[in-house]
Amino acid sequence: MLRIRNLEAGYGRLRVLKNISMHVNPGEIVTIIGANGAGKTTLLSTIAGLIRATSGEISFQNQEITRLAASRIPRQGCVMVPEGRQVFASMTVEENLLLGGHSLGRAGRKELPALLDHQYGLFPILRDRRSQLAGTLSGGEQQMLAMARALMSRPSLVMMDEPSTGLAPLIVRDIFQVIVRLRQEGNTVLLVEQNAKAALAIADRGYVLETGKVILQGSAEDLLANKDVQRAYLGRE
Ligand code: ATP
Repeated sequence: MLRIRNLEAGYGRLRVLKNISMHVNPGEIVTIIGANGAGKTTLLSTIAGLIRATSGEISFQNQEITRLAASRIPRQGCVMVPEGRQVFASMTVEENLLLGGHSLGRAGRKELPALLDHQYGLFPILRDRRSQLAGTLSGGEQQMLAMARALMSRPSLVMMDEPSTGLAPLIVRDIFQVIVRLRQEGNTVLLVEQNAKAALAIADRGYVLETGKVILQGSAEDLLANKDVQRAYLGRE
């Protein structure tokens, strides 16, 4: 579904991503873990077209998207749920969701009620709060809204940037359960997380990023059992 070859990107003269190669298969949850500043957000932003790759190639569903404008990538079916949620605070929950369905265009308008209903099924709290201004939601509810809004465009791949940031453990559990349900429904998820333990617990495979390089990759099971990963990212119990 997504294939990245020898990707390099950064900010001005600062080179952040160094020779990154990775892939995501349909129906997988793949996680990218790594410490603060490892380049995880930069990687997602480069896939999303918000940062230009300086070299390498990104292809999505067998089509090269490396140089596509950021506005065109969601229409190809690749959407990002940014870190810090970024919902439209002065719009209601439902208005935010309808905006998410906007990229379906005129032909997709008929599908909006069913899509809304589907998101409300995944996130029942959003149905209760459909008329509430998004800016007044709790952090966890805003994260759910950001995810639901992305799903409104019926993407083939959902990229999530640190959905657990700043949330209480019980809410994190709920969010991760929804991600598992998304996979059960046939979705594909690329999950960037600092919370390596929670991410590897639900992922199929993972990549460990350190100072802009992939230093390890493998099945989630193997990474959880890896001594270096345990020492650096999982903490000792
Ligand atoms: P975090 O978990 O803290 O978000 P991260 O793994 O997502 O970390 P990035 O945000 O991708 O890491 O940052 C990678 C490097 O790029 C860091 O050294 C950071 O300081 C730098 N960086 C990030 N954004 C910018 C920017 N807009 N301009 C210049 N440098 C940046």
